[in-house]
Amino acid sequence: MTITYTIIFFILGTAFGSFFTVIGLRLPKKEDFIKTRSHCDKCKHELSMLDMIPVLSYLFLKGRCRYCKAKIDNLSTYMELFTGILFALSYYIFGISYELGIALGIISLLIILSVSDITYYIIPDEVLIFFSGYFIIINTLWKGLPSALLYIGSGIALFTFMYMIMMLGNFLFKKESLGGGDIKLMFVIGQILNPFLGIVLIFIASFIALPISFLILWKKHQNLVPFGPFLLISFTFLFFTQINMNMIIDWIKSI
Ligand SMILES: [Zn+2]
Repeated sequence: MTITYTIIFFILGTAFGSFFTVIGLRLPKKEDFIKTRSHCDKCKHELSMLDMIPVLSYLFLKGRCRYCKAKIDNLSTYMELFTGILFALSYYIFGISYELGIALGIISLLIILSVSDITYYIIPDEVLIFFSGYFIIINTLWKGLPSALLYIGSGIALFTFMYMIMMLGNFLFKKESLGGGDIKLMFVIGQILNPFLGIVLIFIASFIALPISFLILWKKHQNLVPFGPFLLISFTFLFFTQINMNMIIDWIKSI
């Protein structure tokens, strides 16, 4: 039974991944993402349902447009696969539970914001507001109002902490160091993690971002690196491993 449901979650994930990519690509450009049909970037031919089956269409069409044979950007296919795997993994690990609701929210946020931050260096406010609401509602329903309010406090604390890091960064480097989107994102993350874990998350994110930033700087000669995806990858990691404060304190003590 678990296997059947895990497969269903994988298929659901690929469909959602396709939708999330469209949101991530269109929302920052203020394009409609529900009514407007997708089309080929090269020949502008409208895509039919058959061209939009997650992952499978890409495999059957061998990565080319059915009408003009131009190569299709494979970002969407990667995101569909990745979302499918993470959705399946979430169900497999957590079953139907509070954690599953949270995990699916985190993955959705990860995919949408990574697409928009990598493509445009933009983290759309609409997405942050939607997921803040989503997490606050789940917290209130499952953990009660007092707990939900505590997490809102945690969000404000992390927002403030990130804001201070930005001020420090701007002062040290004499240029804009962090985007406003990264700071607002910390409020959303605070709805799940307490401030202590939130700060651990910022450290982990910086630790992963540093070597990759050097690589981008070296390969592409650009010094603008989106930080949002690193925050979200660390967030996903911390949530899936269910690392808590006591584990980190024990680990620090053992060193
Ligand atoms: Zn085409």
